[in-house]
Amino acid sequence: MANAIAKNKMKLAVLTSGGDSAGMNAVVRAVVKAAIIKGCETWIVREGYEGLVRGNGDSGDHRRQSLAEKTLTSPRELKTPEAPEEGFVHNLRYGDGELLKDGTSDHPGGRTLKGRYIVRVGWDDVRGWFSEGGTLIGTARSATFRTREGRLTATHNMIKEGIDALVVCGGDGSLTGADVFRAEWPGLVSELRQTGKISEEQAARHAHLKIVGLVGSIDNDMSMTDLTIGAPTALHRICESIDNINSTAYSHSRAFVLEVMGRHCGWLALMAGVSCGADFIFIPESPPDADHWADEMCKMIQSHRDVGKRKTIVIVAEGALDSKLQPIRSDHVKDILSERLGLDTRVTTLGHTQRGGRPCAIDRILPTLQGVEAVEALLEATPETPSYMIGVRENKITRVPLMDAVKMTREVADAINEKDFERAMSLRDPEFRETLDGFFATSVLESEPRLPHHLRMRIAIMHVGAPAGGMNAATRAAVRYCIRQGHKPFAIHNGFVGLLDDNIHQLSWLGVDNWTTRGGSELGTNRKSPDIDLGAIAAKFQQHNFHGFIMIGGFEAFSSLLILEQGRKHYPAFNIPMVHLPATISNNVPLTEFSLGSDTSLNALVDACDAIKQSASASRNRVFVVETQGGQCGYIATMGALATGACIVYTPERGIDLDMLRNDVKYLKRRYALDAKGKNEGRLVIRNEVASTVYTTEVIMKMFKEEGGSLFDSRSASLGHTLQGGVPSPTDRARAVRLSLKCMSFIEQQHQLLLKQQSRTKQAPPESAAVITIQGTSVKWVPVQEMVEHADMKNRRGKHTWWEQHTELVEALVARPQILAKG
Ligand code: ATP
Repeated sequence: MANAIAKNKMKLAVLTSGGDSAGMNAVVRAVVKAAIIKGCETWIVREGYEGLVRGNGDSGDHRRQSLAEKTLTSPRELKTPEAPEEGFVHNLRYGDGELLKDGTSDHPGGRTLKGRYIVRVGWDDVRGWFSEGGTLIGTARSATFRTREGRLTATHNMIKEGIDALVVCGGDGSLTGADVFRAEWPGLVSELRQTGKISEEQAARHAHLKIVGLVGSIDNDMSMTDLTIGAPTALHRICESIDNINSTAYSHSRAFVLEVMGRHCGWLALMAGVSCGADFIFIPESPPDADHWADEMCKMIQSHRDVGKRKTIVIVAEGALDSKLQPIRSDHVKDILSERLGLDTRVTTLGHTQRGGRPCAIDRILPTLQGVEAVEALLEATPETPSYMIGVRENKITRVPLMDAVKMTREVADAINEKDFERAMSLRDPEFRETLDGFFATSVLESEPRLPHHLRMRIAIMHVGAPAGGMNAATRAAVRYCIRQGHKPFAIHNGFVGLLDDNIHQLSWLGVDNWTTRGGSELGTNRKSPDIDLGAIAAKFQQHNFHGFIMIGGFEAFSSLLILEQGRKHYPAFNIPMVHLPATISNNVPLTEFSLGSDTSLNALVDACDAIKQSASASRNRVFVVETQGGQCGYIATMGALATGACIVYTPERGIDLDMLRNDVKYLKRRYALDAKGKNEGRLVIRNEVASTVYTTEVIMKMFKEEGGSLFDSRSASLGHTLQGGVPSPTDRARAVRLSLKCMSFIEQQHQLLLKQQSRTKQAPPESAAVITIQGTSVKWVPVQEMVEHADMKNRRGKHTWWEQHTELVEALVARPQILAKG
């Protein structure tokens, strides 16, 4: 990407359409930047397809010309704008980031957008767009674009500007519109030619339209992609609201019925239900029995109240139906709870608050990666290739034929209408069903345990290492599962030290009720490993007669499991199933792509950096060197840099040397010199705490301060333990439930295999001491012995990382190669 030459001067426009969603601005930013790097000219279309139809009116040509003149006569402008590198700087300076400042007003000296819907933009126009919710270029639903006449006008407007490629970010309607437009394009062009509206040359140059779609939708309702842009942020908003409602519900012992968005998709309701520990949920894909749902709901909620629960949360998706396709309305649910159970019940419809607010970390990272891929797809497109939808599957950015995805999405609605609910569920990804099962496993309180006496176990749960978001949610899910099955869950407080002190107690269903939302570690945790006294640890295992053991923690938990597994040779008490559920903000456990806590800490970093960046540009140009935790693993620094638009990232994997620093200073000086005069700019540099023992955060900050001279100042900030986050993110909570339940069923299966052994002294096989890992969307068990091959034990991290490649993207998106090459 960095070395791309402007051989293919594509003129590319990006628009946002349909309902707005957080992350759309990150898409526009990434598309504009990636396209400029590739040598394209970039445009934004305001107000979705409506903007294409309205175009720039008659005033457009005049305004465009004066704007180009203004830019080209700037003192920092170039003599030969055709050269790729200089073309880049031309784009950098284009507009000076004034796009938003002037808005639609007719500002005499600046850029006016009044009456102009297709606007040429440059690099700095999209600076700082990351942290803004909604879509800054506007969105609309355009009835005119649905007509051929409207699309003919849109075609004409695009050709007038010379645009030959379009990125559309919107829901399935918008993407269908994109496909219709592309299919019709040759006919529209020929009609424009025949009516003399365009020249022969224009018709030849614009014979085909290149188009690519990105899914911006808060519902997460598109098939063939795991996440739609904006859905994670909407989930954040919902969980924040429910967390707030929880305390008032508890205080008054009330029931709350919350209506959340989702017309044909229950993803938001389901994920919120799991993440917030709701009592009951209604989603369209799994409608309850029309004749019995009220009884079932009341029975379940009464069982919760019977054990002493003071609050009740029921979540209803906007499109919730019963098995006879009758809508389930929040008010009706409220009446049932009030009348049948006598609960003081309130309805809260979250409405548009779900759409609003700053995008969460995922909604900055994924749109960025997808925006970059969209530009690649357009550059590679030929008249024969289909229009692609850029999605994400198994943590990888994907391209799928756009209409295949739209068709499959519509099949879900069709399946629901045909009452084929099994099919509706099967069209969702496997994680959806697992999450639904997880919801019931953690919320249904059975009158009788499911397992017979001889299969019931005593299961020990321990937190090891530093606290991480989701540890408590994982423990809650494990406890609830145990109780449902008939096992006894025991909390070991304060790690292996606590075990030696008999700091152990049995956990109850109600006792863990609020743990989903709690940060830190409810059990208490420390970094001591079992080799403090392996024999005594074994004696404690024996004394408490544990049949299974789960450790929730980071690298220490992994190395502890290794010690216990190796200890099986000498201590029979360790011949039980033992598992490690990775939970660490450093995300340094080998093989797993995500550990619990890593999402919470990325969000904490994004929040802190947004505030720092604001302060950095408040009074003067300032470079903030932000220090992150992460041990010897640069995950949080790298992904944090991608999520905040930091211009430099220092990781332990790459280290820091003088040449690097020299180039960094050079880059910063040139970058500040290119900034528009009279504006203060804050820039972020993210440094992992142990990236270098010599070039510390303080040293780098002072170096930048000294070298910045009158161009820029520098300050540092250490985020330290704030990165552990307060309230765990919904992603970490939902992940915690899913993984924890898998751990419990793994322990059960391994225990049952052990029971089948004939001898009195059971010999646990190596695979019964294992780590649960996320690889793509699959969850895989890896025996701890095998994990060692993938671990860099000295540096306490995995040997291979999937995220390290993003360092190059961080640099590409701040134009480092181009700015350094400028000489
Ligand atoms: P959301 O998920 O928020 O509803 P969406 O993209 O599905 O987003 P729609 O209102 O269905 O929202 O579509 C947005 C716009 O896309 C429409 O107003 C229309 O301009 C265009 N569009 C949708 N379907 C078509 C179509 N079949 N042909 C042409 N244009 C279409």
